[in-house]
Amino acid sequence: MAIASINPATGEVLKRWDPLSPAQLESKLALAEATFWHYRLAPIPQRAVALQKVAAILLAEKATFGQMITVEMGKTLKSAIAEVEKSAWVCRYYAEQAGEFLADHEISSDASRSFVRYQPLGVILAVMPWNFPFWQVFRCAAPALMAGNTVLLKHASNVPQSALAIEEIFDRAGWPAGSFQTLLLGSERVSDLVADPRLKGAALTGSEAAGSSLAAQAGKHLKKTVLELGGSDPFIVLESADLPQAIATAVTARMISNGQSCIAAKRFIVQESVAEAFEQGLVAAFQALKVGDPLDPETDIGPLATPAMLQEISEQVKEAVAAGATVLVGGSPYSDRPGYFYPPTIVSGIPAQAPIATQEVFGPVALLFRVPDLAAAIQLANGTPFGLGASAWTTQPNEQEQLINEIAAGSVFINGMVKSDPRLPFGGIKRSGYGRELSREGILEFVNIKTIWVR
Ligand code: NAP
Repeated sequence: MAIASINPATGEVLKRWDPLSPAQLESKLALAEATFWHYRLAPIPQRAVALQKVAAILLAEKATFGQMITVEMGKTLKSAIAEVEKSAWVCRYYAEQAGEFLADHEISSDASRSFVRYQPLGVILAVMPWNFPFWQVFRCAAPALMAGNTVLLKHASNVPQSALAIEEIFDRAGWPAGSFQTLLLGSERVSDLVADPRLKGAALTGSEAAGSSLAAQAGKHLKKTVLELGGSDPFIVLESADLPQAIATAVTARMISNGQSCIAAKRFIVQESVAEAFEQGLVAAFQALKVGDPLDPETDIGPLATPAMLQEISEQVKEAVAAGATVLVGGSPYSDRPGYFYPPTIVSGIPAQAPIATQEVFGPVALLFRVPDLAAAIQLANGTPFGLGASAWTTQPNEQEQLINEIAAGSVFINGMVKSDPRLPFGGIKRSGYGRELSREGILEFVNIKTIWVR
């Protein structure tokens, strides 16, 4: 895949880059390894100061970085700036919390003293997606670096400007050369990289295919991995729900990043008794969304990131209709616009055997389902290969408890949308991946949990 920055709102090629030569890659790997051996000894407060500087740069220049993200992958400028602010938040969070998370943990045993000490593993590879080109990188890199690892970023090939800007931010914040480096590489070169003995672990956020391929190679070479993959998150609305609030949140939850988020609500599962009202409210809200130039502050929905995403979602909706589903709003790409725009779309009456019922839909398309009761809602919610997040709306404590216990997902949000937050663990089960990012759990993924026994 070519490494190029292309404005998805216009199709204009902004710039192309040559991938790293084998010699350039080798020197970056050697530097990452060499830096690790002295950087791992830097005290945590020193690393924290450097990470706070990263946060300060992000906040001071959020408008510039936001503009770059929008022009490179199409999310609205306001959401791109919010992403930069959130990236600063995760840096500040780990700068403040890492000391506590990584402090020796005393455990009584038959020793005079026994405890756990947390030590870094070495060079960690971060393979990242384009849909949150800053946030995904910082949420992976901030804990890995605070733990004393060094990080190599292989970003998605369509966001090289973001990838290079992030490397520059670490340099400007005074991080030692080699602690964070960007590798401009196509995905076909990841496998060899994973096999390199200097690489000690890898995190991948992206598709199931990419995750499976990286994990297979990592498994062969016995390397630790964390995978954050796709999702088809349910958004369950039961009879007692606050309907206006559920509808307003449903729109935000579906449209985040122009609908291209792993934790976007994708399947709206509504109890029959309130389904008509929910459907009418959702249709009206989707019709009111303004699609257009993502740099315009009035715009709600920008373009999809690539022509491939546009083609995929167009085909998924077409296939659903062919299988018997009904389009309530939207449903086909614009013929009169440049760029990769797809309209806000609602599909209902989806037959259980239609592929779209269980696939991930990565764009502004909501799938509507009606169910008679809670048991049917849970069964449908759990009926995909994914298990990332779930949002459920009910004021009944017994229903809340049943949802919490029975939804097969990495997170359940009651009366709110699924979101990531530096303080809360984030990750999935089933084909949504394994391992956790964020919180204490996230920083413990790429450390040696070393048991110490002393008499
Ligand atoms: P993708 O094709 O898997 O790309 C993601 C990253 O993986 C890119 O850097 C890509 O590089 C690389 N890659 C692709 N194939 C690879 C392979 N065989 N081996 C190693 N690396 C490979 O993903 P996408 O379709 O662009 O992104 C959307 C997907 O990411 C969705 O499924 C979404 O749900 C998921 N996602 C998950 C989370 C989460 O936290 N769970 C968050 C965001 C997105 P190239 O660009 O060079 O191909």
